[in-house]
Amino acid sequence: MTQSTLPKPSIAIVGYGSQGRAHALNLRDSGFDVTVGLRPGGPTEAKAQADGFTVKTPAEAVKDADLVAVLTPDMVQRKVYEEALAPNMKQGACLLFAHGLNVHYGMIAPREDLDVILVAPKGPGALVRREYEIGRGVPCIYAIHQDKSGNAKQLALAYADGLGGARANLIETTFKEETETDLFGEQAVLCGGASSLVQAGFEVLVEAGYQPEIAYYEVLHELKLIVDLFYEGGITRMLEFVSETAQYGDYVSGPRVIDESVKQRMREVLKDIQDGTFTRNWVAEYEAGLPNYRKYKQADLEHQIEQVGRKLREKMVWLDNSRDQKEAA
Ligand code: NAD
Ligand code: MG
Repeated sequence: MTQSTLPKPSIAIVGYGSQGRAHALNLRDSGFDVTVGLRPGGPTEAKAQADGFTVKTPAEAVKDADLVAVLTPDMVQRKVYEEALAPNMKQGACLLFAHGLNVHYGMIAPREDLDVILVAPKGPGALVRREYEIGRGVPCIYAIHQDKSGNAKQLALAYADGLGGARANLIETTFKEETETDLFGEQAVLCGGASSLVQAGFEVLVEAGYQPEIAYYEVLHELKLIVDLFYEGGITRMLEFVSETAQYGDYVSGPRVIDESVKQRMREVLKDIQDGTFTRNWVAEYEAGLPNYRKYKQADLEHQIEQVGRKLREKMVWLDNSRDQKEAA
């Protein structure tokens, strides 16, 4: 895909957080005309201005844009769309999401004259920016929900190309597949699964009388080594690098811990995602002011593994500990 065959829409980026900043910077460096839309006085306005962007209110920013990227938190997208985007976007413009949640579950029903597309980098914003700066990219998936102009796919490819995604890999998906697999991944394996696995392993060792510091190294710190090997060469690469003893233990004990009952509960998590139960609960929780969210988060932050980790990481001179120090203060 060469740059010259793809369209070059003028772009409004609404939201300047993890994804918004990376998208805005990469697209500008790829030659797109980029305006940023934010609430005046919001927390990221100064950052966008310091990066040299013209910052307008969302309503003003989207007026002249050929393409509007909605990169606010998922739970405020409906309000932003209804109040600022739907009344102000040009006829026939393109509405872009980086996650399909609001469209897939019907919280946003986009205007019929718009193209509606999704471009989701498979990585956090900081990585999307860093990879672009060193001449590489983060793989992106893209999808078309509404193709009014007949040009929606070209717009998705142009945007993904501008992010640097085409240097890595582009895969076509649907809003349904992106939304459901993204939620499942973060719940069952990445955020939920991995952190609960680590906490449980830590608790088992500490409750059995082992030192918390040793437990921390074994079940949290060393996980990075394993995940790096997965990332570079899959499970094959991990098996090449660990000892025969570790491999034998993996084969006999892994399936005892993550057994069919775990897989069955993963299917239940998936079912709640597919039938909309998870999203209904999440919207209700958000609208109630996040009472349970705050409680669960506090419990994670107060877990013993966090106290121990903060102390141990002070001695890891290769880490940037400024955030740990702020949290300890
Ligand atoms: P974020 O929380 O990092 O940033 C949100 C931005 O929106 C901030 O600039 C904030 O000031 C602004 N904002 C908040 N409320 C607003 C409002 N009412 N009006 C205007 N601006 C407002 O968000 P994020 O993590 O970058 O997520 C953005 C989108 O990208 C979401 O759809 C998310 O699912 C998706 N996504 C995120 C990641 C990730 O790694 N963080 C990866 C892929 C896709
Ligand atoms: Mg996600």
